[in-house]
Amino acid sequence: MTAVQNEIERRGSRIFELVDKHPQPLFSKAGLYQRLMALSMRDEQFKVQLFRFVDVLPSLRHPREIIGHLNEYFSDDGFGPFVGTGIRLARIVPWVSGPILRWNVSGMAHQFIAGKNSDDVIKTLRKRRSQKIGFTVDLLGEAVVSEADADEYAARYLDLLEKLARETKNWTDPLGKNSELFPVVNLSVKISALYSQINPADPADAIAHLAPKLRPLLRRAREVGAFINFDMESYAHKNTTLELFKTIFREEEFKNWPHAGIVIQAYLRDSEADLRDLIEWGRKRGTRFAVRLVKGAYWDYETTKSLQNGWDCPVYFQKPESDANFETLTRLLLENESIVTAAFGSHNIRSIAHAQAFADELGLDPSRFEFQLLYGMAGPIKRALVEMGYRVREYCPVGELLPGMAYLVRRLLENTSNEGFLRAKFAENVSAKELLRDPTELIKPAVAGIGDPGGSASADGKNSTSLDIASADVYRNSPLVNFAYKDSQEKMQGALREVRKRFGEKYPLVIGGEKVWTDQLTPSVNPSAPDEIVGYGSEAGIPEAERAVKAAREAFGKWSRTPFEERAHLLERAADIMERRRYELSAVEVFEVGKPWNEADGDIREAIDFCRFYAQQMRRLGRPKLTQRVPGEDSYHHYWPRGVTFVIAPWNFPIAILCGMASAGVVTGNTVIMKPSEQSIVCGAMLMQVFEEAGVPSGVLNFLSGHGSVIGAHLVDHKDVDLIAFTGSREVGLKIWESAGITRPGQRELKRVICEMGGKNAMIVDSDADVGEAVGYSIYSAFGFQGQKCSALSRLILLQDNYDRVMERLIPAAASLRVGNPEEPGIMVGPVIDEAAYRRILDYIEVGKSEATLAYQAKDLPRQGYFIPPTIFTDVKPNMRIAREEIFGPVLSVLKVRDLDEALEVANGSDYALTGDRRIFLAESGQHRARQSPTGSGKRLHQSLVHRRDCRAPSFWRIQNEWQRHQSRW
Ligand code: NAD
Repeated sequence: MTAVQNEIERRGSRIFELVDKHPQPLFSKAGLYQRLMALSMRDEQFKVQLFRFVDVLPSLRHPREIIGHLNEYFSDDGFGPFVGTGIRLARIVPWVSGPILRWNVSGMAHQFIAGKNSDDVIKTLRKRRSQKIGFTVDLLGEAVVSEADADEYAARYLDLLEKLARETKNWTDPLGKNSELFPVVNLSVKISALYSQINPADPADAIAHLAPKLRPLLRRAREVGAFINFDMESYAHKNTTLELFKTIFREEEFKNWPHAGIVIQAYLRDSEADLRDLIEWGRKRGTRFAVRLVKGAYWDYETTKSLQNGWDCPVYFQKPESDANFETLTRLLLENESIVTAAFGSHNIRSIAHAQAFADELGLDPSRFEFQLLYGMAGPIKRALVEMGYRVREYCPVGELLPGMAYLVRRLLENTSNEGFLRAKFAENVSAKELLRDPTELIKPAVAGIGDPGGSASADGKNSTSLDIASADVYRNSPLVNFAYKDSQEKMQGALREVRKRFGEKYPLVIGGEKVWTDQLTPSVNPSAPDEIVGYGSEAGIPEAERAVKAAREAFGKWSRTPFEERAHLLERAADIMERRRYELSAVEVFEVGKPWNEADGDIREAIDFCRFYAQQMRRLGRPKLTQRVPGEDSYHHYWPRGVTFVIAPWNFPIAILCGMASAGVVTGNTVIMKPSEQSIVCGAMLMQVFEEAGVPSGVLNFLSGHGSVIGAHLVDHKDVDLIAFTGSREVGLKIWESAGITRPGQRELKRVICEMGGKNAMIVDSDADVGEAVGYSIYSAFGFQGQKCSALSRLILLQDNYDRVMERLIPAAASLRVGNPEEPGIMVGPVIDEAAYRRILDYIEVGKSEATLAYQAKDLPRQGYFIPPTIFTDVKPNMRIAREEIFGPVLSVLKVRDLDEALEVANGSDYALTGDRRIFLAESGQHRARQSPTGSGKRLHQSLVHRRDCRAPSFWRIQNEWQRHQSRW
């Protein structure tokens, strides 16, 4: 054993000894609470349900709602007699049990929340002072969705600072040594609370908005001699927070101020690089600063988020890896003590003992660094550290019960986590020796499945084609680009520059493998700057359309007999090319259809996914299936291609939808004529280039840009077109449906038509919904990409119980949106597609003004371009035009209803039935009611935030049963 390990053990044992002198159970509150926590540690399912219940409880207003949720979460009898009896009792007397439950949960929350407000918290701080424990105060609050919320937060921080400074004027340093490094008043600030529009792709914008809000607080802190710490939250905001810290504290005004600190999270793989960079920055700045080193509190969130988006996971998978990294960073901090003051935020005695031992080795006085522990947790450890002469500070959250719930649940999860130190020590009595082991010895060699998105997907079926799919059919989405990385931001900027250089290029038709130019060129303009022409497309007329049908017909014979494996390969090659050209394709979308960066990237990702998914499905469906075997006869089920497919796409998902429909046709052995929308010709031409590079044989995929009303209508009626795949407006879709139903002379097949049409999507905000979350999603769904998605939120249905609470936050949230040219990173609302759309939407706004109440309309818009102000109408009734017709722009109608039954009636009482969404607290809790929910012709009930993906392939086939007779041999 090394000398340092010896010393760690010695110190660790000493801490344990002191801790054991004043034994305390893990959960200090006795009774019901302790029993529930004990049960949670034994039963993971119970724990999940319990914490969900705790989270939703503050938003339930009536005892019957509380009992309803209790029933839904705990209806399973498997939770044992204690829970079963409790639930039965609660049901009998809801008016008594509701308040009792609420009271108990408040009690739980108060265990971790130091006070409701600044007055309240002072009492707690005084008590701690007498125990020689310092404080840092943090403000709890609901998610910030608007600048009004952010301003309120900033004011609360300032108020808190003033009160703390006043109340603690005569307090002195508990150690009476090196006190200049550790001001008594210490405030922890959450950056995300001060600006509602932080976008990881645009740190410069965030800094430009955050710095002015922070300066008054920092100035005042300096005046009153307080310390300000920047807290660290999710990984998406990490780089922005670091950059902000370095920018603001380099400013002349704060350059020499030493009382600023920031957090480093040891569970992040890049934390060491960040810390080294900070130290270097600090040395150049020449003034001391502080770092609070923590393990990190968002592990579940970070792993889930990165798995969901296919990103490299930013956090270590194994707990001992984070522990070991904590020690590495501890050493780095202490070695650089001359410039950085360290605060070690951990409840793990091994980590604490390691910091002590290493500081000792360096000969550092214990009063030059501190330990920070959370309020309401690990009391005996704090006491032990004080007894040993160390500096201890408590992290004290302040806030109301409702916003405090998320914090409470995080603490409960931490306390009951299988890997948590406190549980091991205080609930499971793991030996001191075991708890003091070197974490590097506990790291297992790469554990298969951990952090592997494939492993996770197959485990829960989330990415599967259906919930009960065989594991071999699990599909893995292509990763989204993570714009939080500087590298991704630079690549996108580079792509935008390159694509801009190609403005004005001309793109030909492609028919039978040949490039075809026509006399007519159609310009495609940038809707943000209509005088910029992104490109010109050759315009096809009837002769070119005829030529395309002929080429496709000729190619069909061979292509339909080409092995499906070869066809699947073609799609996979196309996917690889799109992956390679990803930024470039996204940039074209930003210019041609005004998509914000992340939306454009999502579209390219979807196109890639379509190709890979259909290739995979083709391999599954391509093999004949034996359906039955009777003596002398085997029956097989085959799919056969239909013939020539005409693909008609809209402009709003200009590559994904075009690619989805075309690739499904191609991979199933049909030949395809693809027609992009008039507004997105360049995107269509790009897709054609991709397939040409992938080696699509001549005539199998033909590119025909031109007017829908001319070549579109002609080909819909064409006798040699067997199949039509259309996505677009209801008006055009219905016309196609009708026209394709007529069988024309010489037509061999009845035409098959797949029509995906418009929507008038509704979102119901149920009484138990998290309001902040519901508002955030509503805003994103209604105004993201200017409301130009078939699934965009158009009717927000609020229960009257919720109405005021939601509206209070919805309008300021809309007013905080960034409207602008999406070429800039972080813009959420850009221009609508063209002048016609611009005029049509403005007309609808006039209709809305005459029918309902204009509750909000944005004012500051770019002067050039087709920008429509985000607009909200209230007092909307279901029979009004703005509630019935698809507007396809940033216009939201809010409808107030009595109860859920009326909400469902309103949601379903529309001609459109594409998507629907009900904002409830828990998906599970709604399961038994989901049957009546707005489903859009039974299609989908999900949050209408993202364009959904579905498989269009099966209708591209004729299904044929083939009976094969086998001559029996005797
Ligand atoms: P649109 O109906 O105006 O045009 C769609 C396509 O149809 C274009 O390529 C157009 O050239 C072509 N077209 C027009 N007239 C035609 C005709 N007579 N015959 C044949 N083709 C013709 O729709 P749009 O403005 O491009 O797209 C927006 C619409 O698409 C919205 O209504 C939106 O809800 C809908 N949409 C639906 C989905 C979905 O999956 N359901 C997805 C995206 C968009």
